[in-house]
Amino acid sequence: MSKTLTTCVYCGCGCNFYLVSDGTRLTGAYPSQHHPVSRGAMCVKGWNAYEYTNAADRLKTPLIKEDNRFRPASWLEAIALVAERLTDYRVRIGPDSLGFFSSAKTTNEENYLMMKLARAVFKTNNIDHCARLCHASTVAGLAATFGSGAMTNSISEFEDADCFMVIGSDTTSQHPMIGSRIVNAVKEHGAKLLLVDPRKIALSKYATIHARHRNGTDVAWVNGMMNIIIKEGLWDRTYVEERTEGFDKLRSTVERYNPEYVSRITGVAPDQLIEMARIYASVPKAMIVYSMGITQHTTGVDNVKSLANLAMLTGHVGFPCTGVNPLRGQNNVQGACDMGALPNVFSGYQKVTDDSMRQKFEQAWKVDNLPGTAGLTITEMMNAAGTGEIKGLYIMGENPAISDPDLNHVCECLKKAEFLVVQDNFLTETAQYADVVLPAATFAEKDGTFTNTERRCQRVRKAINPPGEARSDWEILGEIASACGYDGMQYESPAELMDEIASLTPIYGGMQYDRLEPFGLQWPCPNREHPGTPYLHRDKFAKGVGTFMPCQYLPPAELPDEEYPFLLSTGRIYWHFHTGTMTRRTTVLNREVPAAYVEMNLSDADRLGVRSGDQVQVTSRRGNINLAVRVSDIVTEKSVFIPFHFAEAAANVLTNNAVDPVAKIPEYKVCAVKIEKLP
Ligand code: SF4
Repeated sequence: MSKTLTTCVYCGCGCNFYLVSDGTRLTGAYPSQHHPVSRGAMCVKGWNAYEYTNAADRLKTPLIKEDNRFRPASWLEAIALVAERLTDYRVRIGPDSLGFFSSAKTTNEENYLMMKLARAVFKTNNIDHCARLCHASTVAGLAATFGSGAMTNSISEFEDADCFMVIGSDTTSQHPMIGSRIVNAVKEHGAKLLLVDPRKIALSKYATIHARHRNGTDVAWVNGMMNIIIKEGLWDRTYVEERTEGFDKLRSTVERYNPEYVSRITGVAPDQLIEMARIYASVPKAMIVYSMGITQHTTGVDNVKSLANLAMLTGHVGFPCTGVNPLRGQNNVQGACDMGALPNVFSGYQKVTDDSMRQKFEQAWKVDNLPGTAGLTITEMMNAAGTGEIKGLYIMGENPAISDPDLNHVCECLKKAEFLVVQDNFLTETAQYADVVLPAATFAEKDGTFTNTERRCQRVRKAINPPGEARSDWEILGEIASACGYDGMQYESPAELMDEIASLTPIYGGMQYDRLEPFGLQWPCPNREHPGTPYLHRDKFAKGVGTFMPCQYLPPAELPDEEYPFLLSTGRIYWHFHTGTMTRRTTVLNREVPAAYVEMNLSDADRLGVRSGDQVQVTSRRGNINLAVRVSDIVTEKSVFIPFHFAEAAANVLTNNAVDPVAKIPEYKVCAVKIEKLP
């Protein structure tokens, strides 16, 4: 047996564990004792992260679709076909007839290469990835207020905080190692926990206050807290004067959000709001922690800006154990953003619209005419495939046929794409629509790096060979570039690739592989002497002074009415991950939760005459699904919750594809549905 230290493939905590192998198969995993996040522990997904790699239905050869059926093909044939068809569209119709989906599951090096393939070889900025669906609002909101769109502080700092304000994050389910640190801080030194979440979650029993607000009313209650803090003189005058701008505008905006007015909008009692404001403003070290309950709204960017305003008003940013801490959902969603798998920036958030940036990348990549206008987002590319504007779509390691909103529409668009390439470990729901399927190695079968939610770039190490003819994504992308006549994407190893990334990406400037041992570095890390940065905005904000960006409350795009009387929210649960591609191939996880369900309040269940286990049909304006009911007090009356992991009752058939106007993130957290009992 051999053991290989690597980084977990699931959530953004970025635990390190050893994969145990008998030489051909993985047989187990156990946590690193010394890693700063794992410290000898991991959650149930980590303990079982090896099993799906052994699944019998792994893709082992390239597949080409003919007469509506897949047939095995050689790599030579598959790569030649992909290169020929994509080049044909580029030359005949234009570069923007192509779209590229990169992946938060693949390594930094692979995301960088996907971005290089789209921009250098095919000359389009139509590249994006699933951050669009989870934290695009964070990137936009925090960049505008602080100058950097990432988690400000580190996971290890959670232990010493005096107060947590946790919003829209079922932390113990979705980021278990961070959730356990919050629980420990409450239990061991009496840290205050201010929880704002419509659902009753595991953290509720540790909460000093649990405000169960109406979904989609976050700007209103945050403005309400700032109203109280200003009125009671609890704001940090020195900090605001020395380190921020725009306070007067903030003060006048929040003026009308008195506790009674806020209560009418949000359902949060005035006393609760006042107490939360007093606690958050008066403790020395308070951390704001949030996740997709904040970001997945048509007002996602406003929600994030409001939290940034609150942190600056009270001086709770720029110090240890403080800050605004968005918890990134996937193992490498932070890294995929950092690598420029986004329509408007190169790696390190260097703008494609900036002439000097384009010149820098043109010189390094030895190409000319890099495109200078921002490309399309994931949802826009999907729509463009549906209308025929995009002809060729290349999807690496994503499963939009389950993960994107309004699935009936998404599947129509996938059908209409003239030429669809999918590169993945399995024949996913999306891959079934493909013209060419390319078999990719899993995280356990390749080298590279992932960057976790606290900006820690750390090593992924190969433990076994991929099955059959499957290859690492970085090797496949290099082959496609070569087949298109570009030889600037051939590398000996991911280490060589990281050297190129470091040379072009200032925040990763000191991140060569020898410096990432044993447990990585946190960006910004501009040079080889730099030790990495545990918390951001220390003496000044990344943009100089922090900017207050006050927002007015706007309601969600679709609220319950007579015809669709329930408010639906969707999300992840502890036992499964994302579209279930990995966790539903894992015995323990599938045994615990084998099928989809809808959480419903006891009073609603009474009215509908249903009990736990009964089948119901849930219908929105976009479609319907059938699934079992779970009756509990987790959700409030007239609200329901459905986990989105299950293809056979995919919650995203129901969700609304209305998007935030700036970040273009869909409103997964609010839509209107009706529920009928099935015979
Ligand atoms: Fe993996 Fe996240 Fe669990 Fe750690 S907490 S083992 S990173 S899923």
